Amino acid sequence: MTDLSGSIAEQRLSLCAVLGEDLVLTNSEDMLQYCRDWHGDVTSGAIAVIRPRSTEDVQAAVKACRDLGLKIVPQGGNTGLVLGGIPDDPERQVVLSLERMNRIRNIDSDDFSAVVDAGCVLAELKDAIAEKGMFFPLALGAQGSCRIGGNVSTNAGGINVLRYGMTRELVLGLEVVLPDGSVFDGLSTLRKDNRGLDLKQLFIGAEGTLGIITAVSVKLTPYPDNVATALLALNSLDDAITLYRRARRDCCDLMSAFEFMPPLAFTLAREAMPDLQIPLSGDYPAYVLMEISGSGLVDIDDLMHRFLEGVMADELVVDGTIATSQAQARNLWLIREGMNEGQAKRGAHMRTDISVSLSQLAAFVVDAEAAVSEALPDCISVSYGHVGDGNVHLNVLPPNGATIEERHERIYKAKKVVNVVVDKYNGSISAEHGIGRLKREDFEERLSDTKRGLLVAIKKALDPDLLLNPHCQIDLGADIR
Ligand SMILES: Cc1cc2nc3c(=O)[nH]c(=O)nc-3n(C[C@H](O)[C@H](O)[C@H](O)COP(=O)(O)OP(=O)(O)OC[C@H]3O[C@@H](n4cnc5c(N)ncnc54)[C@H](O)[C@@H]3O)c2cc1C
Repeated sequence: MTDLSGSIAEQRLSLCAVLGEDLVLTNSEDMLQYCRDWHGDVTSGAIAVIRPRSTEDVQAAVKACRDLGLKIVPQGGNTGLVLGGIPDDPERQVVLSLERMNRIRNIDSDDFSAVVDAGCVLAELKDAIAEKGMFFPLALGAQGSCRIGGNVSTNAGGINVLRYGMTRELVLGLEVVLPDGSVFDGLSTLRKDNRGLDLKQLFIGAEGTLGIITAVSVKLTPYPDNVATALLALNSLDDAITLYRRARRDCCDLMSAFEFMPPLAFTLAREAMPDLQIPLSGDYPAYVLMEISGSGLVDIDDLMHRFLEGVMADELVVDGTIATSQAQARNLWLIREGMNEGQAKRGAHMRTDISVSLSQLAAFVVDAEAAVSEALPDCISVSYGHVGDGNVHLNVLPPNGATIEERHERIYKAKKVVNVVVDKYNGSISAEHGIGRLKREDFEERLSDTKRGLLVAIKKALDPDLLLNPHCQIDLGADIR
């Protein structure tokens, strides 16, 4: 190995000399967007940002960083919410952004599959696939910015999980550059392949700690051109869960989204989008945004109408509206998206991404909100999420006018309070966002010795020098030495 280590300036010069200036950014201003998290809560720095154009470029970057003793933080669209994609040690780490690797290699409508570079933006990928009459079901609020390699690395969820599964269930194969610079070529499109261990699974949800994903082959379905979207008012979260169970049975697995929202959703959405149309009058205790969809000969509109007739007759749903155009459906989804933006506008707040079993979800929310209001009486809890997956975002908003210090104090306390309730329900502190650096301590506190031992063994086997994404998920420094 050539020892090229030296000052930051020397390391930057060496990276440019070895990789070429086209691939390397070193100016602080240019690097800022790669070193700041999506909410703008944390700003870091880096030795450099490397932006490869090909798998070979990624291999060269891995070799150069090894030689220089630098660590690599892989990055897709930088929409991750747990600080996994931005450096935490600016004097020893580079960001490796996949943004220029955005080629769609192949879309095969006969095989129901596509092979794409890891840097493809999810929304662009979905559009290109839709043009061929096919559908890639992964759907999340960040889809205009997040990239498929990031989605795979976080095993992203989103609104369609209840029907199509998490990203893991949509991945057929992966191409990955390993920490030693070699390429794991697992870009198969086979549906069935039981030749020993399924190694691609190691990299799904690894948050860039085991390899750099450079390409992905994904499973497609026919485009669901019949979609019915409804916003429904209910008397409680309990009723929302009963409604979900009934919809699963009555709609024959054609339900593709079922999102729960509290009444505050409308206020928050309007704070972010003052012109937003809210089609339901009244202030009900709970709301559900529901979508059923299908292709071919299935009459989706008829199914939605008959389903709603039944549940309204039984007074499970007390008010509701069905979108009659794509624009109206889009407007309904804007309420859900605006609610997120509205919370961000109110300033720093505590965000969670919790899952518990569906049958315990309503009790969990009641318990956790009660615990928060007892510990932090001046804060407001907002619980919403992908109810069908038992996934709730129980967020805590400090009072308007609180200083940043007062906010952080409340965020810290709220997290501790909520995590105790999560543990009581045997739930997960990360249903879909991953661990990153933000949740590492909470994750490590809850790791059994056996699980920790397995994680260390896997990391040691693939990345003994801790080249990739150090301090992300778990801090392995002590275990390796
Ligand atoms: C408004 C909003 C809504 C969201 N909604 C959801 C949601 O509903 N469901 C959900 O699951 N998430 C959601 N997220 C979180 C985020 O969008 C997902 O985690 C997404 O999958 C991250 O993709 P990315 O390309 O932005 O990854 P990044 O943020 O760039 O990186 C995420 C992690 O993956 C690693 N990584 C990225 N690319 C690669 C690669 N090619 N190889 C190896 N490692 C890599 C990074 O090092 C980091 O650890 C939301 C975020 C926002 C801002």
